[in-house]
Amino acid sequence: MKKKNRRQRHIPERTCVGCREVLSKKDMIRVVRTPEGVRIDSTGKLPGRGAYLHQRKSCWQHALSRGSLANALKVEFSDESNELLSAYMDQLSDP
Ligand SMILES: [Zn+2]
Repeated sequence: MKKKNRRQRHIPERTCVGCREVLSKKDMIRVVRTPEGVRIDSTGKLPGRGAYLHQRKSCWQHALSRGSLANALKVEFSDESNELLSAYMDQLSDP
């Protein structure tokens, strides 16, 4: 069999941990696990394990209530992280 050397263009795609839909990276909010706790990564450049969510309140509600965000980040949220995430969620709305 002949080996294929054709390069595939890599388009970053991410799954929303709230609704499981796949969208391109630019439409997503990245949440990162850091040694200091969970952070919203608005620049997309923080190092560490990250998970992606839509800018949609329902996705955040699902991800937080079902624990799928914590699962994706393989972490248990501290009170501080929970507060940060809830505060972020509260300023989102559903389209
Ligand atoms: Zn979503």
